[in-house]
Amino acid sequence: MLRIGLTGGIGCGKSTVANLFSQLDVPIIDADIISRNLVQPGQPALAAIRQVFGGKILNVDGSLDRSHLRDIIFADAEAKQKLESILHPLVYQAILAAVGQTISPYCVICIPLLFETKMTRLADRILVIDCPTEIQVMRVRQRDHLSDGQIQAIIGSQVPRDFRIANANDLIENTGTNDKLAEQVKKLHNLYLSISNCQD
Ligand code: ADP
Repeated sequence: MLRIGLTGGIGCGKSTVANLFSQLDVPIIDADIISRNLVQPGQPALAAIRQVFGGKILNVDGSLDRSHLRDIIFADAEAKQKLESILHPLVYQAILAAVGQTISPYCVICIPLLFETKMTRLADRILVIDCPTEIQVMRVRQRDHLSDGQIQAIIGSQVPRDFRIANANDLIENTGTNDKLAEQVKKLHNLYLSISNCQD
């Protein structure tokens, strides 16, 4: 099965594009959902995180205190690396397992930090959703109600726009209307179906 790695900077439109593929009955594997499931109570990843960061990282009900963890890794690069060394291999394996269970000519694997987490090997083709930084900031401001400083900090923690574009097999410029976006997705859908046909 052909595996499309869908990525892009925060607010560029990954979820919107993933929804459009889903409307065409394309299976979507979402790395964010997978990583959230991996840290549910009872999951080995949560036990490993607790061992490294201590009980203070849990809410009273035993679930992961995500905002506390976010604060810790934001302030401490070593802690961030430790967390990633626990989570990334598990996310990688879980994505592989999800791909293995999917039957379809192709699937879309949505990995916001595809390059940053070095997961490009999971994808046969990389689809980058791009838009100018000003539009990106405006969309995130409206969606997440963050300050411009917070948004810039997130953008700064992601690979540069040029890098993503240079490493894309396919690129969607998400600067137009939703209809225009749907058209671009439909075109890529046809391309992916024809490529997957050739693979058979
Ligand atoms: P990402 O998943 O990359 O963070 P989203 O798909 O959530 O980005 O899009 C960010 C925000 O911008 C959302 O509120 C979405 O509805 C909006 N958006 C995305 N694409 C467009 C578009 N072409 N026109 C208008 N709004 C858009």
